[in-house]
Amino acid sequence: MDNLDLDYKLRRFSAVKQKYMIDTIMNKNINGKPVRIVSLAGTETVTKNMTLYECDDTIIALDCGVDFPDDDQLGVNLVIPDFTYLRENSHKFKAVFITHGHEDHIGAVPFLLEEFDVPIYGTKLVQGFLYEKFEDRQFKDRKANYKPVVFEPGMDPVEIGPFKVSCFGVNHSVPAATGVVIDTPQGRILHMADFKIDATPILDKPIDLGEIEAISKDGVLCLLSDCLGITTPGSSKSESTLNDTFGMLFEKYTGRQIIVTTLSTSISRMHQIFEAAQKVGRQVVISGMSMHKNSSVARRLGYLNFDDNLFIKEDNAADLPQDQLIYLVAGCYGQHGSGLDRISRNEHRNIFLREDSVVIFSGDPSPPGVDVDVERVQANLTILGANVIFGEIQDNLHVSGHGTHDDLMKIAKIVNPKYYIPIGGTVVKMRVYSNALQEELNVPKANIFEQLEGQTTVFENGRARRGDKIEVKQIYIGNNSTDEINPLVLRDRDAMCSDGVFVVVVPISKNGKQLYPDKVEIVTRGFIYVKESKQFMNKSKKFIVKALNKYKSGDKNWKDIRRKLERDIEKYIRKESRSYPMVIVHSLNV
Ligand SMILES: [Zn+2]
Repeated sequence: MDNLDLDYKLRRFSAVKQKYMIDTIMNKNINGKPVRIVSLAGTETVTKNMTLYECDDTIIALDCGVDFPDDDQLGVNLVIPDFTYLRENSHKFKAVFITHGHEDHIGAVPFLLEEFDVPIYGTKLVQGFLYEKFEDRQFKDRKANYKPVVFEPGMDPVEIGPFKVSCFGVNHSVPAATGVVIDTPQGRILHMADFKIDATPILDKPIDLGEIEAISKDGVLCLLSDCLGITTPGSSKSESTLNDTFGMLFEKYTGRQIIVTTLSTSISRMHQIFEAAQKVGRQVVISGMSMHKNSSVARRLGYLNFDDNLFIKEDNAADLPQDQLIYLVAGCYGQHGSGLDRISRNEHRNIFLREDSVVIFSGDPSPPGVDVDVERVQANLTILGANVIFGEIQDNLHVSGHGTHDDLMKIAKIVNPKYYIPIGGTVVKMRVYSNALQEELNVPKANIFEQLEGQTTVFENGRARRGDKIEVKQIYIGNNSTDEINPLVLRDRDAMCSDGVFVVVVPISKNGKQLYPDKVEIVTRGFIYVKESKQFMNKSKKFIVKALNKYKSGDKNWKDIRRKLERDIEKYIRKESRSYPMVIVHSLNV
């Protein structure tokens, strides 16, 4: 057999193999067991991402992130996905795959592992961030449950029940972000959470569109795609467009104290800041727990190759000439209690603004819902004398990690799946993405499944349909513990916060039969200033005494009296003062 002949046979074998693969996808898969995709959380908000893939007796989860509370969710630290469905199907739940190291994709893992014994698959950087979480005092008790499995692009697929899972590299605002390929009995599914197309990223390789094309060439059943950047026209700006900004600003503000704030997961931004500091001969002060942890994980893994001498401890920084330092501080979203928030209120332990300080914001200028906090911190910094540099007055301080319109359409075109599920955006962005697919790529509307939290899509016999909705609720985690807060508690906090509380203490005999209306006491907080409202208080007391006298001789029990009295007082206060304080009637045994 000569070489030509061998070459021909190999090519023929390859063609036969390819035809066999296509047959496999077209026929065998159609008869496979149904596959269900559950949006457990993270489709309506940008955060709290968690998607389940379910087939036969196996469930795998992609991502397990947190959301941050709104201002009116008092005393709430985090919002996490509702694990009830997993609890009810815990025998099926086999593994979690993490796409990248942002909090809204990994933050709820410690809460999940409190009750489930499943391995966590993710890149080394993801595992580094997670490992640091379990070192925290609040999660240390769960460390034994954390079973990390390194899962990187280029590794062999992992087989879990009927699923075969592998991943490929994508670009995002944190290094080592991945797209996930899930081969199911119904066909191949691509799960592309947060991603962008960046030809010149700082610490990663550029996303390999040829690889995605190869992954997709035998047909993709469904693409789950990031849609957050769909309203930004054109192609993504590269992270490297910021390369010169920090150096230029550090030069411009020679002789002044400089503070830079960015997200603690923005490792490539840190790289740019450290490099610029090195160039102008300033040392870097890393401030804040998350900044410290994430930068040390990244340094350990070789993402930030800088000499130890570049860094100086925060405790030693205040006494040094401030124009020799660059402070890197957390809190670019104006988060309450963050390092920058404390600096802006002059309450930081070690960092104090000088008359001519410069504070550089290198973060997303308008992530959903944080603009008010950012403005408040920027205003406080300005009042204290700082010169605040942010996106509106300085170009190239931030680029988004999310693919813009052209990026998203390009990926949709390359993958060319039968079905689409937009993820990681708001409901509005999902609709804009869906319209773009229909108008620009002629995707039939019936092939796009916008999923609200709890909604599901079922793939069966090669076709997709809407599945049963799963009941999910918001799970609130309190400020000072890792426990859940009941939504009723939040409702009460909200009522107390907006109109205060009005407490009536009614003396009652030990046997519960005798009330003493004349000895009723009223206590209020956050409702009216009592000293200035004597007339109202006297009138209220008269009203309560009169109401109690009605019940005094009746045969009703105290519980009924209390409920009715609370309602009557609420009505009375509403009429008299147009306020809605929380009314509590309490008995006191005498
Ligand atoms: Zn992300």
